[in-house]
Amino acid sequence: MALWNPWHGCEKISEGCLNCYVYRIDTRIEKDSSRVEKTRAFGLPVSKTRSGAYRVPDGETVYTCLSSDFFIAQADAWRPEAWRMIKQRENLHFVIITKRIERFAVGLPADWGGGYPNVEVCCTVENRLRAASRMPLLLAAPLKRRSVICEPLLEAVDLSPWLSPAVARVTAGGESGPGARACDYAWVLDLRRQCAAAGVAFHFKQTGARFVKDGKTYFLSRPQQLSQAARAGIDIAP
Ligand code: SF4
Repeated sequence: MALWNPWHGCEKISEGCLNCYVYRIDTRIEKDSSRVEKTRAFGLPVSKTRSGAYRVPDGETVYTCLSSDFFIAQADAWRPEAWRMIKQRENLHFVIITKRIERFAVGLPADWGGGYPNVEVCCTVENRLRAASRMPLLLAAPLKRRSVICEPLLEAVDLSPWLSPAVARVTAGGESGPGARACDYAWVLDLRRQCAAAGVAFHFKQTGARFVKDGKTYFLSRPQQLSQAARAGIDIAP
């Protein structure tokens, strides 16, 4: 697994952004997170070692733009070059998580067609409001692979109108960090039930720092958030 942050900084756009970890981390070094800047890692996918080998070897999954949003308007001028690098590294699997699926087509390469086979766009859906606005756009986007992440899951969400094998996977998780909002296990199980009914893979990634189960609230450390989700054993394999 590799991380590629071609640009850094973002603007809060929806309810899931309230406690954004990018803002939280930047605050510690008094950095203005709302300024979107190209990073030194911009060319990482095509960067090579002295011996001429790619620094990111073939076969890796590359989580893309985790300290910004790949489709943010401030990066419109840089995205065509990013797409060119993504196309060049056809043996990498790029996962692009976004809250801006409405901007997916801005700056799309002319040869995109039905989608590059090495690109997965994962749309964030944190509540019912965003499910209603983003899911139809995700399904309409020409993509070879699309997925959904409900994190931070803020309420019970019914994704069933949009779930079909056209969605590769749904991931659920709570919110981390100080002031985290509660995630109720009943919401997670409900999403899992919807995925099982639609034949869609499901992954319970983490409980979040404030986890509610059977009406009781648990405050969990970061390692516990991950381990408790894994222990639940409720994933559905692809
Ligand atoms: S879209 Fe993502 S990176 Fe941008 S402010 Fe919201 S949570 Fe943070």
